[in-house]
Amino acid sequence: MSTPLTPPTPEDVATMASDALHIYGWDLSQDGNVVEIGIGPFGADDKPLLPGMNFQAHVFQVPPAPPIAAEGVDLDVDVARELAYTSIGKTFEGWTVVEREDIDTSRWESHHWLVIRSEAGEHFGATYSKGLTEYQDTRPWECDTIACFEPIARQTRVVQVHEWVTRADLIKLHEYDELIFGGVYCTHCTPDDCADADDNVMWPCPPLRAAGVTDDEAIEIITARRAAIEKAHRASAAQGEAKTAGGDRG
Ligand SMILES: [Zn+2]
Repeated sequence: MSTPLTPPTPEDVATMASDALHIYGWDLSQDGNVVEIGIGPFGADDKPLLPGMNFQAHVFQVPPAPPIAAEGVDLDVDVARELAYTSIGKTFEGWTVVEREDIDTSRWESHHWLVIRSEAGEHFGATYSKGLTEYQDTRPWECDTIACFEPIARQTRVVQVHEWVTRADLIKLHEYDELIFGGVYCTHCTPDDCADADDNVMWPCPPLRAAGVTDDEAIEIITARRAAIEKAHRASAAQGEAKTAGGDRG
C-alpha cells in the first residue's frame, strides 16, 4: 500500500526557504508562513558599519495562472449589459462575472471595469459607464451596438498591512510548553511536525525577545502559570473529595 503524497503547505515552503537562507549566517526565525530575516550591521572594512536591517519573506500559495486569449471578443450589447448587472460568480450565456470594479464617478455617470471568464477559462475585461440615477437613463454601452472586451491576464500583488496587537496578546499567542528533559519551547513558533529536538524554538522565542521579554519576566510567567495550574488542581481535588464525602453520607 502506498502512502498518499501530502502537498506542501505554505509553512513547509517557508521552512525550506529558511533552511536555504541559513548559508548566509543571518538571524532567521519562522512563524507559520513568515520567515523573519535579520541582517546584522554590515559594511566594508574601511567604512563605518551600517545599521542592521529586518526583512520578512511571506509564502503564499497562488492558483495556477489562467490561460490568456490572443484576441478580444465582441459581445452583443444586450449580453454585455446583462453581465454588467449580473452578480459576481454568476453565469449568463456562457460568461461568468469574475469582478466588477468601480473606477470613478463623474457628475452624472459612474465608470466601471468588468472582468468576465469564458467557458475555456480565458478572461476578458471592458470598461463601461452608466447613469447615476434613473433620470439620466444611460445604461451600460448605451450608444454602442457591440461591447468590445480585451483579453486580460491575472497579476498578483502583495499588500503590506500592519496590525497592532497588545503585548499581552502577543505573549498569549506565543504560548510555551515544557520539554520532558527540561527547557521550554514556543508552541507557536515551533513547527507542528517538529521531529528533530534541535528544531524546537526555545521560549521566550525571538518575537517575544523583540517585545522585551527578559529571562526574569519569563520565569515570572512560568511561575504564575504553574501556580494557576496547581490552584485549579487543588480546587478540583477538593471538589472530588466533597463529592465522595457526600456519597458516603447518602
Ligand atoms: Zn513564539
